[in-house]
Amino acid sequence: MKIADTVLDLIGDTPLVKLHKVTVGVSATVLVKLEYLNPGGSAKDRIAVRIIDAAERDGLLLPGGTIVEPTSGNTGVGLALVAQQRGYKCVFVLPDKVGEDKRNVLTAYGAEIVVTPTSVAPDHPDSYYSVSDRLAREIPGAFKPNQYFNPNGPLSHYETTGPEIWRDTDGTITHFVAGVGTGGTITGTGRYLREVSGDAVRIIGADPEGSVYSGGTGRPYLVEGVGEDFWPGAYDPAVVHEVIAVSDADSFAMTRRLALEEGILVGGSSGMAVVAALRAAETLGPDDTIVVLLPDGGRGYLGKIFNDGWMRSYGFANAPAGHTVNDLLA
Ligand code: PMP
Repeated sequence: MKIADTVLDLIGDTPLVKLHKVTVGVSATVLVKLEYLNPGGSAKDRIAVRIIDAAERDGLLLPGGTIVEPTSGNTGVGLALVAQQRGYKCVFVLPDKVGEDKRNVLTAYGAEIVVTPTSVAPDHPDSYYSVSDRLAREIPGAFKPNQYFNPNGPLSHYETTGPEIWRDTDGTITHFVAGVGTGGTITGTGRYLREVSGDAVRIIGADPEGSVYSGGTGRPYLVEGVGEDFWPGAYDPAVVHEVIAVSDADSFAMTRRLALEEGILVGGSSGMAVVAALRAAETLGPDDTIVVLLPDGGRGYLGKIFNDGWMRSYGFANAPAGHTVNDLLA
């Protein structure tokens, strides 16, 4: 029998799959790690379970406690999933720009959401940050994971993601590529891979054009979950050899190609990471193996990246057309 005791036992051990079509002309092997196969649908399940385990161990989260975090996305889903299993309440603070589908995923797991205006400064009492700080102070038994600074985020990747990649490639990986948001994924995974390989694996960050990691100031970009306008404590720049900046247009075009040409339906930060990997691969040869981490699936982006009208409204080219019914009729 192959039965997991709880859904939390299904976190991690995600598969690697080789890319074939978008890599035409590339001599290195390019493998992608499919984090959307985690039970909450993203790599953030890994940090959620590690952060909550540590908070329980350190007495920061007691039975019946409440998790309060400003998050609109994958971290909220991961935390909500673990909280549901462990009997904690969740309150997530979201900016009002977050779409209804993302809100509904969180409430489906039993979380409560508090919506704040996007158009106020971070130090305004109604801002996303101020409201979550106030709720964490005022709700009895509240615990704030603070994913941007919590060391258990990078540690979860050091303990799971890195070893999985090393094991599944039989130690043949030469390059690791990941998008940078909080920086936890690249810091933890990158640190493990450098250590285990005797510092032979090269660690490459992918960043939206304009974000601080690639030298920008935080100019707005549309790719979600990556890039920053400040330097989070979860990111250790000493682990990363190089950061490659990628435009929204290139990220979204590759995201659509991954679905159309590889059968891999993922989010925009995954497309961004693959673009960075292919740029890095331009100078690599047949003995090189690049592993690219794809953080989440594409279902959360059907109304955006996979919607022709939305793409056009921002001036992005649509995906190369597939076939039409008329082409198929003789
Ligand atoms: N892509 C997506 C879709 C994400 O939600 C995140 C997490 N913010 C990342 C990439 C980046 O991961 P990390 O925070 O570990 O740098």
